[in-house]
Amino acid sequence: MVKGSNYLEILSQTKYVVFDKTGTMTKGVFEVNGIHHSTIENEKLLEYAAFAESASSHPISKSLQRAYGKEIDRSRVSDIQEISGNGVTAKVDGMEVAAGNDKLMKHLNIPYQDCHQTGTIIHMAINGKYAGHIVISDIIKPHSKAAITELKKAGVDKTVMLTGDAKKVANQVASSLGIDEVYSELLPADKVEKVEELLRVKLGKAKLAFVGDGINDAPVLSRADIGIAMGAMGSDAAIEAADIVLMDDDPIKIAKAIKISRKCLRIVYQNITMALVVKFACLALGAVGIANMYLAIFADVGVMILAVLNAIRCLFVKKL
Ligand code: ADP
Ligand code: MG
Repeated sequence: MVKGSNYLEILSQTKYVVFDKTGTMTKGVFEVNGIHHSTIENEKLLEYAAFAESASSHPISKSLQRAYGKEIDRSRVSDIQEISGNGVTAKVDGMEVAAGNDKLMKHLNIPYQDCHQTGTIIHMAINGKYAGHIVISDIIKPHSKAAITELKKAGVDKTVMLTGDAKKVANQVASSLGIDEVYSELLPADKVEKVEELLRVKLGKAKLAFVGDGINDAPVLSRADIGIAMGAMGSDAAIEAADIVLMDDDPIKIAKAIKISRKCLRIVYQNITMALVVKFACLALGAVGIANMYLAIFADVGVMILAVLNAIRCLFVKKL
């Protein structure tokens, strides 16, 4: 869904495409891969995590609730606080529970144990003491790799991935997809800053597109030259802030949108040139007295019909 013809024009000049990771290049559906250094039973730790995360719409929260698998009695949870790009803190059964990444642990001054496994690590603390971590991992969307290849084919110079996730995970995803540059462990505000930095260095008329699901990245969506949001799993804020919405969340559609925009623009310029050339030729012929009424009708209505017929070609863009 393109929210206006001006976005189509900007899209046709896109040379930089910046992606968010979770929910954009990956499905945002995490599986629990392991629970380590737990000071209580593993199931209990997962239960505390799911309860603390019960109010958040972050893909990590939803995945932990799914992994827990049982009904969550919200009356057992209070004082929920979500710190974007860090995690959540809440009171579960009267105990202070914190679930999040190493930034959250540092913020709370709780010493934590690093994990050697590659994955997104959810560190847990209960009543101010470290209680272990849950390793979760996400799956790359089936078309993500093809999406990057197609973008390159469509003439995009540079692809960049920005994520709040750990460096190891970010690098693994970026290299398996063939993304040129990757920046990890960013807070939502750092993402805006990174995009502004990229906006400053890009050349001339080249435009920058940002693609995200809007969870922790709605500000970047509106800051980029063109914001592209995931329509199916994206947040309402993202769909509102974006200029283009991918209704089925498939990143391969970005290359398709760029191709459609280029073709539309090409046809627009063809039509403008054709109309002006024919009309000026008729005008000139009329001035020297060799144009008749039929030619005048052709220059007016005929050109209009040709332009409409030419415009219909916009409907036929090669399927990906
Ligand atoms: P991304 O840029 O990949 O979309 P986010 O900015 O949404 O990631 O989150 C960055 C990191 O912050 C996550 O990888 C996770 O470690 C942590 N985090 C954010 N929200 C939560 C949450 N609700 N629960 C636990 N951890 C979270
Ligand atoms: Mg995200």
